[in-house]
Amino acid sequence: VFQLSVPLNFLGSVYRELRQSLLDMETLFNLQKVNVAIKDAPHAKPLVLKGGEIRFENVSFGYHPERPILKNISFTIPAGHKIAFVGPSGCGKSTILRLLFRYYDVDSGRILIDGQDIRDVTVESLRRAVGVVPQDTPLFNNTIEHNIRYGRTDATDEEVKAVAKRARIEETITKLPDGYQTKVGERGMMISGGEKQRLAVSRLLLKDPPIMFFDEATSALDTATETSMLQNINSILKEKQRTSVFVAHRLRTIFDSDRIVVLKDGVVAEQGTHQELVDGGTVYASMWAAQEVLSTGGDTEKSSTAAS
Ligand code: ATP
Repeated sequence: VFQLSVPLNFLGSVYRELRQSLLDMETLFNLQKVNVAIKDAPHAKPLVLKGGEIRFENVSFGYHPERPILKNISFTIPAGHKIAFVGPSGCGKSTILRLLFRYYDVDSGRILIDGQDIRDVTVESLRRAVGVVPQDTPLFNNTIEHNIRYGRTDATDEEVKAVAKRARIEETITKLPDGYQTKVGERGMMISGGEKQRLAVSRLLLKDPPIMFFDEATSALDTATETSMLQNINSILKEKQRTSVFVAHRLRTIFDSDRIVVLKDGVVAEQGTHQELVDGGTVYASMWAAQEVLSTGGDTEKSSTAAS
């Protein structure tokens, strides 16, 4: 009996761990709505939206005091504009999103939305105004429909289908035997990174907030699907005059932004339109040149081999 109980206990603990990670995922997801660490100020009022202008004024922030991540960053995103953040891995692009959502408060400086310091508005109204496609979207152990509808639970079936179409996933869903009723997540069908991203975009489009944040939202898609999804997103952003922020490594996905902000070593290294940065910039121009070389890969490689 004693010998048997050990492996059984072990299995039990593995099972508990698995269950726990599943629960953690859902807890994490709920936390995105209610982060207990950040509380409303006593005088907090609901955010009054006038179009969705975002302003960072001399913002400094670090997760640990000894290691600043953002150093005195300032930029303004006019309402209805599309802005992109680029820069090396770990330079703080996603941190900007976390600050905007108030998962953390700035160490100094301030963040304003339509002129209101986000620390003076209710967290609930702030998070209602901002929607995000995060780098990794947690999915519920539930149907595809449920996962999309989470964006706005009272949406009609037609609205759910319309956003799935624009996020380029409708065709994939309708080919499944159970269609929108297919279960996904740990207890259902495992879906690919690209499918996950398309579900996340559907969810955001259904929520349709005034400010939309896309954090590497199309990185797992093939080029053709990515291009067509981005076209759809861009036309929605234009049509509805949404303020949008993109974080991307692949520059061809963001080169049409109204402004591109290049972050490096915690500061804004340069900012401007694609053309301005290619003509007059240094960091962006070299990133662009490097990616151009990659996209025409074969030829360049051959010629450099031939030259050596
Ligand atoms: P990537 O392009 O790889 O997504 P990024 O520019 O979005 O990177 P961030 O995720 O903003 O980078 O992270 C900036 C820095 O802060 C990194 O060095 C990271 O290790 C650190 N960091 C991020 N989150 C935390 C955290 N919760 N606690 C401590 N350090 C963190």
